[in-house]
Order: sequence, then structure tokens, then C-alpha cells
Amino acid sequence: MSQADSATPFIQAVAEQVRIELAPLAQAIDQEGLYPGEFMRHLGALGGFGAALSAQDGGSGLTLAEQIEITTQVGRACGSTAFLVWCQSCCAWYLAHSPNAAVRGRYIRQVARGELLAGTGMSNAVKHLAGIEKILLRAQRNTDGSGYTVNGSLPWVSNVGDGHLAVVAASIEGEGYIMFAVPSTAKGFDTRGCLQFSGLEGTQTLNLRFHNVQVPNNDVLAHPNQFTEYIRRIKPGFVLGQAGMGLGITEGCLDVMRESNTSTAHVNMFLDDQEPDIAAQLALLKAQAATLARQAQEGVTPILPVLKLRAAVSELTLKAANSAVLHAGAKGYLALHPAQRRLREAVFVAIVTPALKHLRKEIHDIEQAASAAANGTQSDVALATH
Ligand SMILES: Cc1cc2nc3c(=O)[nH]c(=O)nc-3n(C[C@H](O)[C@H](O)[C@H](O)COP(=O)(O)OP(=O)(O)OC[C@H]3O[C@@H](n4cnc5c(N)ncnc54)[C@H](O)[C@@H]3O)c2cc1C
Repeated sequence: MSQADSATPFIQAVAEQVRIELAPLAQAIDQEGLYPGEFMRHLGALGGFGAALSAQDGGSGLTLAEQIEITTQVGRACGSTAFLVWCQSCCAWYLAHSPNAAVRGRYIRQVARGELLAGTGMSNAVKHLAGIEKILLRAQRNTDGSGYTVNGSLPWVSNVGDGHLAVVAASIEGEGYIMFAVPSTAKGFDTRGCLQFSGLEGTQTLNLRFHNVQVPNNDVLAHPNQFTEYIRRIKPGFVLGQAGMGLGITEGCLDVMRESNTSTAHVNMFLDDQEPDIAAQLALLKAQAATLARQAQEGVTPILPVLKLRAAVSELTLKAANSAVLHAGAKGYLALHPAQRRLREAVFVAIVTPALKHLRKEIHDIEQAASAAANGTQSDVALATH
């Protein structure tokens, strides 16, 4: 039996939990900003965040491909919660690949099992490393060697708050960067609410503030001398894991289209993006995502196809959500129709880091550098930094 076949009962159990527990909450999550903490804990107990982790780390010893399938199952019912599943499983991914045994030992099993809920505040650092914006957290090395002192703030980080963990990165002047975990109880660490979003209000997205926060060495995922190699190792998984959100939302859009076609197929057939076309493109992207995810699990995937896949998922999700709204017609224009929620969820897939514009910039930079290197005309700086 292949690994994919042996995962089938597990994925089915996740799908069942989503159907019973999450689907009935989707409207309250979207309209009332309900944070689905209980569902997250139940999903964690089922193994929903640890597919890509070894049994020793509290996972199920499958791969990132199965983790993406889990996120897809969640996204089919609720894109907002699929983002939370990505946040949690991505923190587990970071911990699993940290070269530092102390931080892994401290948190990985609890994060993998959903006993400690965790957010990833890496947008700013990832955008900074891609040359898009300046870094917002600054660290100083403590002179007694105990760790670092961190100051600054991050505008939007989801799945954080009281009793949660946050994983973030900071720059250290003259040395590079560190990546570290910070518990909500750390002295000098504070959260504030954000202005209301048009969607994703159920993700507990907060503003993180650091005032002389002490980060002990055993909370450090990567010290400056480990950071470059570490980011290179985790980034494909960080980017690919998000594909599950878009693939799941697209499945939800197909559900809307099929439902609408039961009564109005005779006019829906004149729309541009038909259900079989979207379904075929979805199947292709799912297969590509699974292949790349298995390579990312082994640490052998190049970044360029990963960025292209993630961009293609954003584009398909936007297309599917637009088509779902058009299929549903006036009924789909009702505030509580799922097609409206899908539209806002789809836009989020294309704006959360790496946003579609960010992906296209990175792809452009890498391709320019590769062609310059091939022509022997310019340095391969972009190739080295991505
Ligand atoms: C609902 C919601 C949930 C989010 N959850 C997370 C999360 O869990 N973790 C996370 O790291 N990010 C999170 N983000 C941030 C997100 O990933 C993007 O960084 C954000 O949407 C801005 O991207 P952009 O491409 O529009 O920024 P750009 O248009 O490229 O940025 C414009 C300018 O705005 C400011 N700015 C924008 N984004 C940031 C940022 N992230 N840090 C610092 N300054 C910024 C900067 O001055 C920047 O130059 C969330 C955003 C939303 C709306």
C-alpha cells in the first residue's frame, strides 16, 4: 500500500470532523468573527497539524502532501479556518526543521497535537528578504550569552493571543537575523486588536508589540549563523502549505457552481469559467502541489516551481470564486450566500504573504538573474537570495 493510500482513512476522518463540527460554524466564523478554537483542538487531537512530522515529534509520519490535503478539506468548508490550519501546521514545520533541539523539545509535540495553538508572524521578514519592505523587529544579543532582547511591532498576526505561541523573526545589526518563538506570557510582549477586516475575522488576528522582550536561547529556532540555511529549508513548505487554502476554497466554489447548475444550467452554460474547466485545473494543481510537497519534505525542491504553483493557486481561486458568484446570480448576491464568503476568502489567498504581486516579483527576480547568469552579463544575486 502506498503512503497516499494509507493516508486515505485519516483524511476521511478529518473530512468527517470538518463536516460535523466546522461546516455548521462557517457562517458565524465569517459574520461574527467566531474563533474556532475547539475545532482546532479537536483537529489537533486527530493529527490534523502533524501529517508532515515524524511520530517522535507528535506527528503521523506522512508528508507535507497529506498536510495540504487536510488544509484542503478544511478550506472546502471554511477558508478562514484553513488559514488557521496552515498557521498551526506551519509552526510545527518550522519547529521540525529547527537545528536547535531545545526549542523543538519545548514545543513541537504540543503544537503538533493542537494543545498549544500557534501563529506565524513571518510576513514582514519574508517580504523583507524579497526586497519589499524593511524589517520591523530588532534584536540585540545579550552580553551574558543568555539570548536576545527584542523590540518593535508586527501589524497583523493570526492565531495568536492569550495562551498561544507566536513564531517571528528579527534582525540583529551586523549579524543578520534570528527566528524565535514567543509565548503570550513573555514580559514586555503585548497584543492589540486590529481594525475590522472584510473577511477572516475569525482568525484572531492581532497586532504584536515587543518592548525589551527577553528571548532565551532555548526559544530560538535559528541563530544568525543558522538563519540563511534554515530559511532555505523551510520556505518551500511555508509557501506550499498555503496551497491547501486555495485548493479547498476552489472546491467550495465548485460546490456552489454545481448547486446552481441544478436549476440554472441552461444560462450558466454561457459563463466563461465552467465547472468542468475549473475542476480539471484544480486536479492538475493538486497533483503538482503533492509532487512538490513530497520533494519539499525531503528538502530537495527548487523554489521557482513552488512560487509558480502558489501563484497559479491564487489565480485559480480568484477565477473560481468569481465564477461561483456569477453562477449563483441574485441568490449569490445575498449577504449570507456562501458565494459572497468565498469571494472574500479567495481574495485573502491572493493577498496574504506571499501575495500574488509578491510571488510575481520573486519569480521575475529569479528568472532575470538566471538569464543574466546564463548570458554571463550580471551577478546572480537574486539566485543566491531566494
Ligand atoms: C486577515 C489578515 C491576516 C493576516 N495574518 C497574518 C499572519 O498570521 N502572519 C503574518 O505575518 N502576516 C499576516 N497578515 C499580513 C499579510 O500576510 C500581508 O503582509 C499583508 O496583507 C500586507 O501585504 P501587502 O502585499 O498588501 O503589503 P504591501 O502592499 O506590499 O505593503 C505596503 C506597506 O504596508 C506596510 N505593511 C504591509 N504589510 C506589512 C507587514 N506584514 N509587516 C510590516 N509592514 C507591513 C509596509 O509599510 C508596507 O511597505 C495578515 C493580513 C490579513 C489581512
